[in-house]
Amino acid sequence: MKRILILGGGASGIMAAISAAEHAAPDTEIVLLEQNAKLGKKLLATGNGRCNLDNAHCTIDQYFTSDRQTASAMLEQINGLDLPQWFANHGLLCREAEDGRIYPYSNQAADVVNLLTYWLEQLGVHIVTDCRVTEITPTDSGYTVSTADGTILDGNAIICAMGGNAGPQFGSEGFGIKAAFRTKCQMEPLYPCLVPLKCNPEQIKGLSGIRVKADATLYDGDMPMHTESGEIQFTDYGISGIAIMQLSGWLGTQHGVHNPNIQLNLFPQYTEAELTALLVARSQHMPNATIDAYMVGLVHPQVGLAVWQAQQLDANNPMAASMTPADWAVLAYGLQHWTFTNLADTGWKHAQTTGGGIALHQLEIDSFQLKTMPGLYFTGETADCAGYCGGYNLHWAFGSGILAGRHAAESLKQ
Ligand SMILES: Cc1cc2nc3c(=O)[nH]c(=O)nc-3n(C[C@H](O)[C@H](O)[C@H](O)COP(=O)(O)OP(=O)(O)OC[C@H]3O[C@@H](n4cnc5c(N)ncnc54)[C@H](O)[C@@H]3O)c2cc1C
Repeated sequence: MKRILILGGGASGIMAAISAAEHAAPDTEIVLLEQNAKLGKKLLATGNGRCNLDNAHCTIDQYFTSDRQTASAMLEQINGLDLPQWFANHGLLCREAEDGRIYPYSNQAADVVNLLTYWLEQLGVHIVTDCRVTEITPTDSGYTVSTADGTILDGNAIICAMGGNAGPQFGSEGFGIKAAFRTKCQMEPLYPCLVPLKCNPEQIKGLSGIRVKADATLYDGDMPMHTESGEIQFTDYGISGIAIMQLSGWLGTQHGVHNPNIQLNLFPQYTEAELTALLVARSQHMPNATIDAYMVGLVHPQVGLAVWQAQQLDANNPMAASMTPADWAVLAYGLQHWTFTNLADTGWKHAQTTGGGIALHQLEIDSFQLKTMPGLYFTGETADCAGYCGGYNLHWAFGSGILAGRHAAESLKQ
């Protein structure tokens, strides 16, 4: 009897197990080990419980990695799997929403986990939960896997799908990446990715709970690095929202950003001159309005006052009529360059994915097998490729799992 051991019952491991079972010879046992009491704990939390399981437009431009060339080649393999069709073939009706995001038709992440579990059971995968893997050791005929209760299991092939460091509350506490490190893999530095950001507390005083629409640009000093548009949420520690989470990916060391700051443009549809003219005209129309009254109907009043203060304009709530055209030009500039400094991530617990990980050039592009250790595969979040928000991470996790499972099963037939 041959055996494929799949370590980690998250998105990637579940897919690897299904794919291995679908392609395995009858003399091959597929075993899935998961340290949580149930499979797919993180999957249940994805997409706010709706599971944004894929995206119709996945290209390398939606991923953070130190090795774009290899990641591109891997993505090509994953795109070739046609995941929406894969799900359709396995009975999951999906629908495409805004920006190509794909969700289960029922909008229930639980349906995704339940349906995938159904296939694991149908295909005879041996599922072992409450089982924490502690070691992977190469042997003459394959590998052994040790678990926390002292069990040692032999495997002809091992698929390591134990995730990265992000979201430890869901079970992924970094053992997948540590295991790769122990095999002397080259690693790219890890960083929390898709994470809200802390900033100078003075800059967000009194704004917690407010949301604005803006273009958010990450700068390195005064050099613009990347812009995202969307809703910005102010919290008691800093700034959040999808646009900010995407920008957090640019803080990884591979981008070499040394002096990060984020500038919000609250009026991206106006040039600075147009906005200044609008502010001046407004002041002539409402000459008796104090500045806090002037802001009403222009921007969220607290936001307007925060920008006013950030621009160090008259702190005594003057009348609009007393301001000069130069003052309005300063305000217009502030509304388009509202700056947040002292940026820092809010840590692994708040991150949706792991930046960095196993350097991709060590893996076969069509199987995620380690080139130096045949029979050992690293999939999903263990590898140095983190996606934007929008279904790109599950695309990578599901796809790499399918490729690894299929390859492991086919290789053991030879
Ligand atoms: C709140 C949240 C929302 C998200 N929403 C989306 C979304 O809508 N769309 C999207 O594309 N991506 C989303 N993501 C990202 C996505 O969930 C991950 O990128 C993806 O789950 C990674 O899959 P994985 O299988 O590699 O790792 P994981 O899903 O983390 O699975 C790893 C599994 O291995 C198990 N494990 C770890 N160590 C051990 C061990 N030593 N022994 C045994 N088992 C172990 C863990 O318990 C876990 O079940 C979200 C992430 C979070 C945190």
